[in-house]
Amino acid sequence: MNKDIHILAIETSCDETSMAIVKNGREVEALTIATQMETHASFGGVVPEIASRMHTESITLVLEETLKKFSGKIEDIDAIAVTYAPGLLGSLLVGVECAKTLSLVYNKPLIAVNHTMGHIYANNIEYEITYPTLALIVSGGHTDMLILKNETEMEVLGSTMDDAVGEVYDKVARVLNLPYPGGPKIEKMALEGKDTYELPKPMNDDSYNFSYSGLKSYIINLVHNERQRNHGIRVADLACSFQKTAVEELTRKVGLALKNTQIKNMILAGGVSANKYLREEMAKTCAEAGATFHVPNILYCTDNAAMIGCAAYPLFKAQKFADFTLNAKSSENIKKYIEDSQK
Ligand code: AMP
Ligand code: MG
Repeated sequence: MNKDIHILAIETSCDETSMAIVKNGREVEALTIATQMETHASFGGVVPEIASRMHTESITLVLEETLKKFSGKIEDIDAIAVTYAPGLLGSLLVGVECAKTLSLVYNKPLIAVNHTMGHIYANNIEYEITYPTLALIVSGGHTDMLILKNETEMEVLGSTMDDAVGEVYDKVARVLNLPYPGGPKIEKMALEGKDTYELPKPMNDDSYNFSYSGLKSYIINLVHNERQRNHGIRVADLACSFQKTAVEELTRKVGLALKNTQIKNMILAGGVSANKYLREEMAKTCAEAGATFHVPNILYCTDNAAMIGCAAYPLFKAQKFADFTLNAKSSENIKKYIEDSQK
């Protein structure tokens, strides 16, 4: 008899304390997200010390709330999954220690999940990933292009060589005095503007790597120079031109990869995939290449524990469990993680 598998997942890598209960790697039975966004907004970015303290304050409440939403009891859970990397160390530690405690007290296996894998598997919630698929992860810390060959085999095609695309959205927003987190604010401003600023192309090559620091520095310098000369900045126009330039590079490289690999499925993931302009442009690129295109519901694009429960499921099936020596890691190279996990 095939028994349903329920995984309790924990995500505390940045400024969201989240827990979820996910059935069979796809069905979200309960989800709670306690965001600290407002607290950090007043500082213009996430303050790590405050983030970990707030996780400590809210984690038991989030657990209680999540269990209330679940039709079963904690004893019915089959495994405890947790994001252990990458992220803010102090924040990750709160989730990891909570997971280890629950695993010990309720005698449930522990599953260590890489946060980026979580973003990818968020695509399994409303659509079942079809293999092979090309995946692009665009977040505050990553710009990675991968081929998912099947549920467990993957290959990294390219990554960012410097700043991640989400980080650049946030930094451009900051220099334009738009509040944190900058991505959604830039998206909103861009709708009110026109593409009138001529900006340098991020990386005009045919590799699958990305580089956004040149574009970022160009915009920061432009804004500073114009301010020094008491010239006004057309914020909405600059937001529009920046977004167009940044997205064009993502779609161009995905188009290239789809053409070269002849893969006919594409998924987008990570916080920046909440961006409607990017979603629309990527859908067009995939349609032109004759590939299917999927992106998670906006709720599952930004940090949440449901995606961690989804990513934990293949590890559960492969019986890849962690022990109590599990520790948090602030950074983890995705390429190395994939190579190690396939050994
Ligand atoms: P993550 O690193 O996956 O948690 O995603 C956070 C990043 O996504 C931050 O850099 C945000 O600015 C960015 N982000 C979130 N929503 C949007 C959006 N609508 N447009 C662009 N970037 C976004
Ligand atoms: Mg994230």
